[in-house]
Amino acid sequence: MKLILLGAPGAGKGTQAEVISEKYNILTISTGNIIRAALKNGTEMGLKAKSYIDAGNLVPDDVVIGIIKERLAESDCQNGYILDGFPRTIPQAEALDELGFDIDAALSIEVADEEIVKRMSGRRVCEKCGASYHTEYKKPAVEGKCNFCDGALVIRKDDEPETVKNRLNVYHEQTEPLKDYYKSCGKLLCVEGQDEVKDTTRLVLAALEI
Ligand code: ADP
Ligand code: ZN
Repeated sequence: MKLILLGAPGAGKGTQAEVISEKYNILTISTGNIIRAALKNGTEMGLKAKSYIDAGNLVPDDVVIGIIKERLAESDCQNGYILDGFPRTIPQAEALDELGFDIDAALSIEVADEEIVKRMSGRRVCEKCGASYHTEYKKPAVEGKCNFCDGALVIRKDDEPETVKNRLNVYHEQTEPLKDYYKSCGKLLCVEGQDEVKDTTRLVLAALEI
């Protein structure tokens, strides 16, 4: 299965991606995580992306398209994959089509803006491996520590309230049009995000019985 996850920042794409990955035995490719790793390692691409990410803006299309093209060409992508956070603009979606990565479905997780702002304030990420948590909805086994690698849980700089507002605007302007893009080719699936992660998961898995 080749799946795209759409949704506002903080809609729970990453969390649902983990569940789908496990059930269908396919990997998740998160452009956000790839870019943050590059940033941490101080690569040229990371340095280029930093100012965009910190302000809550999108990294230029040519940069992310280059990242995804390289990543999808690797051998571990044969079985299929979940794209978490790509595409985020129409040109990115067109590039994916042109490169011949024919996807099966684009699943949109719908959450109202007010709810997003509330949720983002509780979001925490592992400093080491990037796994994400929430102070209310998705607590780690040990407070402040990652379940997978024991790394410290921190607040992402772009999860600060002012930046979140900008990210939401960017989402509505540049990413939301992708729903029509995938609807017009019959690939759009929509799920309403629920208060409880497990309730959203149930709806997501049901929608994927395609
Ligand atoms: P979230 O899903 O919470 O919005 P991500 O980790 O997916 O966060 O992305 C964080 C930031 O990384 C974005 O705000 C943007 O700056 C950059 N980014 C990630 N994916 C893309 C993309 N496909 N196109 C442009 N920028 C991207
Ligand atoms: Zn970790």
